[in-house]
Amino acid sequence: MTRKVLIVGNWKMNGSLAASRALVTALRAGAGAGAGAPATLLLCPPYVYLPAVREWLQGSPVGLGAQDLCDKAGAGAFTGEVSGAMLRDVGCSHVIVGHSERRALYGESDAVVAAKFQAAQQAGLVPILCVGETLEEREGGQTRAVIERQVKAVLDAAGVAALAKAVVAYEPVWAIGTGRTATPEQAQEVHAFIRGIVAARDATIAAGLSILYGGSVKGANARNLFTMNDIDGGLVGGASLAAAEFLEIFRAAG
Ligand code: PEP
Repeated sequence: MTRKVLIVGNWKMNGSLAASRALVTALRAGAGAGAGAPATLLLCPPYVYLPAVREWLQGSPVGLGAQDLCDKAGAGAFTGEVSGAMLRDVGCSHVIVGHSERRALYGESDAVVAAKFQAAQQAGLVPILCVGETLEEREGGQTRAVIERQVKAVLDAAGVAALAKAVVAYEPVWAIGTGRTATPEQAQEVHAFIRGIVAARDATIAAGLSILYGGSVKGANARNLFTMNDIDGGLVGGASLAAAEFLEIFRAAG
């Protein structure tokens, strides 16, 4: 089965209106017309820049996503939060949930991540579910247990059918923003493990599930990662802020 290949740029809390415009302009020009492209590019800017980025992307094949959303569906008294419906309203198709920075810095539990995953789908967004172990967990031989717990929290809450309309990103915490990338073999091993967890509930859904790798992906290491059987693209932080580097990663997926 051929799976969708996605290259996602997570801008995190970076940029300005002017810098975002320059970046989008360069990416639009470099991404080409899109027809027949082996991979899809998706940009996840900060919330406040979403409407502007949407406008700058008009007529281009580059997609728009958000970095997070409220775990509550609908509207209401949730000061500071942004709902899935609002993200749809401003043109997002995807949303990242459970990024390790949200889990570690903002205390998001597996239950909250599962609620966000479901809120995203209720709003018609495709959640990009991030999972990954810390260095301590890897060195303690806990990688599989941690990944299994994080994936099963969503499977148990949302059901396996929900994975047919989702993307998973394996992001070892020790590789995020550190310049230390997982080797293609290390990443492949965990990607295959994730696919196996889903396959135990539904083999067809598992076979069609796009699983991205994230953690210090660069132009120089992308191709070796993307050639692995179970790696279906990348979730890119730092390198997505430099147009030439991000486009090199995009081309490596071809
Ligand atoms: C990320 O934030 O999802 C990420 C993978 O960051 P970086 O590429 O900078 O490691």
